[in-house]
Amino acid sequence: MTDAIRLTNLRRAFQRGDMAVQALRGIDLTIAPGEFVALVGPSGSGKSTLLNLLGGLDRPSEGELWLAGLPLHTAPEKERTRHRRQRVGFVFQSFNLLPRFTALENVAVPLMLAGVSRPEREARAEKLLQRVGLGHRLHHFPAELSGGEQQRTAIARALIHQPALVLADEPTGNLDSATGQEVMALLQEMNREQGVTLVVVTHDPDVAAYADRIVRLRDGQIAEITSAVPEVAPTPEVEETAVVALPGRGVRQRDIMRTALRNLQRRPVRNILTAMGVLIGIVTLVAMVSFGVGVQREVQRNFETVGLENVFVSPQYAEGDAFDPFASPKPVSPLNPALVEEIRALPNVLSVDPQLELPFGIDVALTAGGDPLPVRIVSGFGEMNFGFGGGSDLVAGQDLAEGDSQGIILVAGLADQLLAEGQSYDDLIGRTVVLTARLPRGETSDFSSTIVGVRNSPGRRTIDLGLQERAAIKAWWFGQPDILESEGYDQLVVRAANLAAVPGVIEQLNEMNLQTQSLEAILDVANQVLSLLQALLGSVGALALLVAALGVANTMMMAIYERTREIGVLKALGAAPAEIRRLFTVEAALIGLIGGLFGLVFGTMLGRLVDWIAHRYLISEGVTGVGQLSVVPPWLALGALAFAALIGLLAGLYPAARAARLDPVTALRAE
Ligand code: ADP
Ligand code: MG
Repeated sequence: MTDAIRLTNLRRAFQRGDMAVQALRGIDLTIAPGEFVALVGPSGSGKSTLLNLLGGLDRPSEGELWLAGLPLHTAPEKERTRHRRQRVGFVFQSFNLLPRFTALENVAVPLMLAGVSRPEREARAEKLLQRVGLGHRLHHFPAELSGGEQQRTAIARALIHQPALVLADEPTGNLDSATGQEVMALLQEMNREQGVTLVVVTHDPDVAAYADRIVRLRDGQIAEITSAVPEVAPTPEVEETAVVALPGRGVRQRDIMRTALRNLQRRPVRNILTAMGVLIGIVTLVAMVSFGVGVQREVQRNFETVGLENVFVSPQYAEGDAFDPFASPKPVSPLNPALVEEIRALPNVLSVDPQLELPFGIDVALTAGGDPLPVRIVSGFGEMNFGFGGGSDLVAGQDLAEGDSQGIILVAGLADQLLAEGQSYDDLIGRTVVLTARLPRGETSDFSSTIVGVRNSPGRRTIDLGLQERAAIKAWWFGQPDILESEGYDQLVVRAANLAAVPGVIEQLNEMNLQTQSLEAILDVANQVLSLLQALLGSVGALALLVAALGVANTMMMAIYERTREIGVLKALGAAPAEIRRLFTVEAALIGLIGGLFGLVFGTMLGRLVDWIAHRYLISEGVTGVGQLSVVPPWLALGALAFAALIGLLAGLYPAARAARLDPVTALRAE
């Protein structure tokens, strides 16, 4: 930092429309280390342009600009950023403190940009603030400080990283003259004590009077140089402040996160509204996917309880006949007892359970000593209801045997009506009952049966009936004693020895001209339908998220327009374009993440609510034992969050790139 600043034939031209504006027209100047130079001149004479060149914010059109051995006129962007970060401090007319940062944090910004840890940089910032007389204002925000206090904070910020050069553009322009004097005195003191080179732009003669030399510009040229002091004072006893080497690294990721969070708090309503878009998308996505997952699991579980080894066999009907509305169709090969025996003899067949349904609405009453009770005949108490069911427990006796079964199972509510004082369900087992069937035209017939079991299930009339009783009732009803031989059972449940044997069994059954359905095949179809449903619902959520992404992009663009000057300040303080880009990308990703977080919570709650309503409905319909239908597995929760953040991040890429590309000089002139 002992090298001088040398400017030779320095020129800077701006293009304004078709006109080239010559802001600087050949400046030759040398500034000694530790010197205090005032740049004066009328407005538009090129003072700010010269200052920006010295700070490496801008590049000359022509000429040379050497700064402590660094050729700034040829230095690439990266070099100039490092120059600003390590060797230059800026003081602006309008202070330009970060509004969401306290005085302490503002002063620490240059160290933050250099990657210094928070405790260290804030310790140093505190010392410096005490030094400029603001020890009592450490945790105040800029809005809570007076103009003079803000400018003193800004001076501390310009000095915190011990730069070799401090550049101030009209530092007293926004202050009353007394406060302006204070600020100038402070700058002069810093110049004397720390030996920094100081270049101050002003058009106030009183301010210029503090300088060692006054350089007067006119129309981009040096008009006059006056030495205020007889001889340029050789830098006096420079206080040996321990020079702390700045880490070469850039800003830390956690500081980017902190800064992004602070920035989001500046426009809470707008950011929450934007996050709401993401929230809605994620709610849809989470609720829908959670249902897909839950229902799929529940269906799978129920299928597995029923048994995937089961093959359901139904007869084939002759072509054409099936569509004759007046004749009941005749099966090609009826599922009669002989066929059942044939199937039982097949290899790999464990058992065959015939199913026989009674005509719908058949009028049957049960008598067991007392009055006849109307009953409703079901099959298997709903265990075969795929998806929902299987919730009934056997509370006494046993189930109907497989195959050619005999007997009756009562629902507990019906059994209660048969119990005498002090009797239990077990006392009913083995009791003979009479079933009276009645034809619509009034004829009745009695069939006797034996109670074999009692099941706990909703209802007071339900019974399950053995195959023999069913066959007898059906034969009487249709007046066809050989109905089993001629028409056969409705369906056979053929159980294969194991899952691997299922395809072989199906093949043999098909060869016998029988129609087969296996749960595995049904499950496959069910899974496909569910996947399709999930994809469909998922894309609704995805569409919502696409709209949300546009919202995030819009919000970020607005944030960048509002904060253009601030971006310029950050760049002047040494933030690299990549760091600005990271900051804005993280802000956008955070908006997405916050939306995602609440979306996940609300989506899960919505799923639970719909689940609860569905259960109420199912219970009112008499279906119990259904598991949770809305399931949010960890992969869905994490996936939803990551997805929301990704949406935000992607939406923020373009705005962030725009922010990173902003020219610092233009950005600083904004507003
Ligand atoms: P001062 O700070 O002395 O008032 P400036 O250095 O800001 O003057 O400007 C010098 C001249 O260059 C002015 O005519 C100004 O309009 C012009 N100028 C400065 N910056 C730009 C720019 N970015 N684009 C176009 N013209 C500019
Ligand atoms: Mg200016």
